[in-house]
Amino acid sequence: METKQFKAESKRLLDLMINSIYTHKEIFLRELISNASDAIDKLYYRSLSDGETGLSRSDFAIQLEVNKDARTLTIRDNGCGMTAQELEENLGTIAKSGSLQFKQEHEQKEDIDVIGQFGVGFYSAFMVASHVTVTTKAFGQEEGWRWESSGAEGYTIEPCQVASHGTEIVLTLKEDSEDEQYSKYLDPHQISALVKKYSDYIRYPIRMDMPATRLKEGCPEDKPEYESYTINETLNSMVPIWKKSSSEVTNEDLNQFYKDKFYDFQDPLKVIRSSTEGAATYNALLFIPARAPFNYYSKDYEKGLQLYASGVLIMDRCPDLLPDCFSFVKGLVDSQDLSLNISREMLQHDRQLKLIASRLEKKIKSELLGMLNNDREHYEQFFKNFGLQLKYGVYEDYGAKKELLQDLLLFHSSNGEQPCTLAEYVGRMKEDQKYIYYACGETLEKVKRLPQTELLLDKGYEILYLTDNVDEFAIKMMRAFQEKEFRSVNDSDLGLENEEEKEETKKQQEENKGLLDTLKEALDGKVKEVRLSSRLKSHPVCLSSDGPLSLDMERVLNSMPGAEEKVKADRVLELNPSHPVFAALQKRFESDPEQVKAYASLLYNQALLIEGMPIEDPVAFSNAICDLMAR
Ligand code: ADP
Repeated sequence: METKQFKAESKRLLDLMINSIYTHKEIFLRELISNASDAIDKLYYRSLSDGETGLSRSDFAIQLEVNKDARTLTIRDNGCGMTAQELEENLGTIAKSGSLQFKQEHEQKEDIDVIGQFGVGFYSAFMVASHVTVTTKAFGQEEGWRWESSGAEGYTIEPCQVASHGTEIVLTLKEDSEDEQYSKYLDPHQISALVKKYSDYIRYPIRMDMPATRLKEGCPEDKPEYESYTINETLNSMVPIWKKSSSEVTNEDLNQFYKDKFYDFQDPLKVIRSSTEGAATYNALLFIPARAPFNYYSKDYEKGLQLYASGVLIMDRCPDLLPDCFSFVKGLVDSQDLSLNISREMLQHDRQLKLIASRLEKKIKSELLGMLNNDREHYEQFFKNFGLQLKYGVYEDYGAKKELLQDLLLFHSSNGEQPCTLAEYVGRMKEDQKYIYYACGETLEKVKRLPQTELLLDKGYEILYLTDNVDEFAIKMMRAFQEKEFRSVNDSDLGLENEEEKEETKKQQEENKGLLDTLKEALDGKVKEVRLSSRLKSHPVCLSSDGPLSLDMERVLNSMPGAEEKVKADRVLELNPSHPVFAALQKRFESDPEQVKAYASLLYNQALLIEGMPIEDPVAFSNAICDLMAR
């Protein structure tokens, strides 16, 4: 018979398992039972939705068996089973996201300890077994299949007779060693304890023949004699973890459940439990991961919650239960309001489902707010991972979710190192301060250096520092917070001047019209206007924009993939009338207007550099400076 090789990545995981020095090898049982339960779920769901399987819930069970002489432990289920092709795909390669993700995230640091905390699935059998035989028959198929492997050398698949649908996994346990007594997995009591510890919530009975003794029939009362027999006991309580009261489950249980089910190796940052009755009756068990999955901000990431109808899994990832802004939430919902044989298409329009989704949205928001107010450290960790998603959420769908999300946002500001909420900002606003000011740039350092911020900071006004591409778009979508409008530090009106001062600036502007027009002419096509600025203090120039499109938005939009037609903000070159450079300009304009034109391009390029934007012709710029220095 042909021996097939494992796919390269599977082999690596397998090697890791076989040579594992991990001390909690016992979790292999949890993994295999969980696979068995999933397989039953699949068939049970089918029997409910098309009703053609002729099976009912009480038909399903997982059976465990030990054989001390043969040194085997058997895990048998009557679930969906596998076809030859499925067998090949599922056990010959790491097919599923979980294992694959595990592999990708741990490519560099093969931390053995991490293995046991993470659902690595079927291969974990090789932590305790020297040989594994899987015999399976898919429901509705005639032919059964046997898969065998002793690990690294590969595996074989051959057809065989199998009486009934389902899968049987026989583990031949490794020989005992100094470090590990594999024989303990042959002891029914130890196995029973492991089932209680790890798989108690599995919703199908996990049964095993347990040794027992009884009084021998017919023996006299004064001379009792006992005999041994076995009794097929159900080892698990079958109450799903989300149906247990909080006194019955420990945080550890919940964390473990999360890691198993949702392929994470870290405890979740937060567990959210919610049960309601009434208009919508459901139990929800939700988790906020401690870290964003590696593909979170990519198209590959699929949001969704597991959906159970009265304890039966009907959908593994139901997207309609979560708004995009909370797509990072993992978990499940179990409701008795949903019909079991509902199709996915119908589910989308189900009123009950919509009701549950809107309840969950509120619940998630309130839990996040609670964390923000009571556990800031963790909230900031959360925001580092998922804050970007919340900000996208504010912007998306024309701001449909901005009310929901605006209280949850954090921004850096001039107030200190710690990011702040908008409410905190508004609470700190000066009495005479009209607007919530913000400044944008690629990095905090760049933003802090912007000349436009100097005067505002001098007045004691706080400025939000925005560094994510989506920030300004989100801010513009919100327009105002607690009735305070947002204002970019680039805005032509920062609300700093009183009427008199405005008049004064206007007058100055008129007086210097000739100079300003000359500069503008010299910069034809580059700027829409050259004007005097009231926002600059120690810097001679800055660049701002008129109209709805800011310079930063221009940068962001043009850097997006597929942005072939570049957008252009209306640029305004602002001059600081109190700066010595301006006085020099005025003087030069009187004596040699032509010379002023050369200065125009110098000033414009300087402004670009300060903004962190590229200058069009660095060589010409450098030459112009040299000219000036040589003069
Ligand atoms: P995971 O459970 O994380 O997907 P596993 O390596 O544990 O990964 O299993 C791989 C696949 O093999 C499963 O997704 C399932 O399709 C199949 N499988 C494993 N055990 C069984 C079983 N007892 N019955 C039917 N299919 C199974």
